[in-house]
Amino acid sequence: MPDAAGANDMAEDYYGLLGVARNATDAEIKAAYRKLAMKHHPDRNPGNKEAEAKFRRINGAYEALSDAKKRKLYDQYGEAGVSSGGPGVRGFEGFGQGVDANEVFGDLFENLFGGQRGGGRRQAHGNDLKYATTISLEDAFKGTQLPLHFQRVESCGSCRGSGGKAGSGVKRCAQCRGSGRVQVSQGFFAMSQTCPRCGGEGQVVENPCADCRGQGRVRKEAELKVKIPPGIYHGATLRISGEGEAGPRGGQPGDLYLEVHVKPDPRFERHEDDLSVSAHIDIATAALGGTVTAPTIDGEPVTVKIAHGTQAGATLRVREKGMPKLHGRGRGDLLVHIRVEVPRDLTAKQKDLLEEFRKTLHGDGADKGDGGVFGRIFGKE
Ligand SMILES: [Zn+2]
Ligand SMILES: [Zn+2]
Repeated sequence: MPDAAGANDMAEDYYGLLGVARNATDAEIKAAYRKLAMKHHPDRNPGNKEAEAKFRRINGAYEALSDAKKRKLYDQYGEAGVSSGGPGVRGFEGFGQGVDANEVFGDLFENLFGGQRGGGRRQAHGNDLKYATTISLEDAFKGTQLPLHFQRVESCGSCRGSGGKAGSGVKRCAQCRGSGRVQVSQGFFAMSQTCPRCGGEGQVVENPCADCRGQGRVRKEAELKVKIPPGIYHGATLRISGEGEAGPRGGQPGDLYLEVHVKPDPRFERHEDDLSVSAHIDIATAALGGTVTAPTIDGEPVTVKIAHGTQAGATLRVREKGMPKLHGRGRGDLLVHIRVEVPRDLTAKQKDLLEEFRKTLHGDGADKGDGGVFGRIFGKE
């Protein structure tokens, strides 16, 4: 039987993965799966991520191909037809939800896996937590410190996470005699399960702590100050190591992940570390040159020089007036988009002056059709 050893090839065809022909019988598929699952089972390959991944793939393949309906879907649509989100097939953990280990392995299980089944013992890691927060662009500019309030499972203070009263030791679990597994009969087969008494740990505390009922952990309202670094991007996720939930009985805590959203700002638009803003100038300034002030994110307006002949829509770059660079020194730039305001209401004098001006453009002042630059702006009256 081909081993289908391409463990890295995650897109491998299910039939290829199990090493069977596309027209393989159910019995052939089962036999192939059994052989491969035994070989790659995590209990036989402790700590081997590749074997674990392979095991999952094999389970997925068997889950799909052992079910006539799913197999048909797979043949028709490929993995998309049977993967999570596909018709009626959910993700799986350890053995696929559609894989009945008992049915495939029967009592062989005990001998092969030493009584361990599926994913085996749960690792003593606390859960990771994930939260999201929204800050203003100013806070993203300056950086900020946010108080976070949230519920989390923490190590029990009374027993310091041990689960036992002060001076209380641990003793072997009576129900599983320390193995963490108990035998249950299912039909003809004896199966092994995680011990319900000790949760698979094989030991229990002698005098359980009253506050956590021997769990070593309690749910608490946590408060944490989280530093948001200057220059943070919208959608960035901060990992705060060890601030997730406490692990069982003094196990490693999980991490806290904080996704940061930056609210859109009414004045500035952000493009990575650059900010852009609009500034309005009058036609005389556009033509003759001058200055305009533009707001900045740090609050100090900047005065920007307008060269004579500046066109509407021109962009002027003010160096180092954008957002701080999250990785590295310095700041992005401020891009000032120039809007030229055409006056709507003119005084009699302004009108005269502009008429005079127009005459200089066209010699005799007659509108000769193309109107020149100003003709195009003002149109014909
Ligand atoms: Zn306690
Ligand atoms: Zn037990």
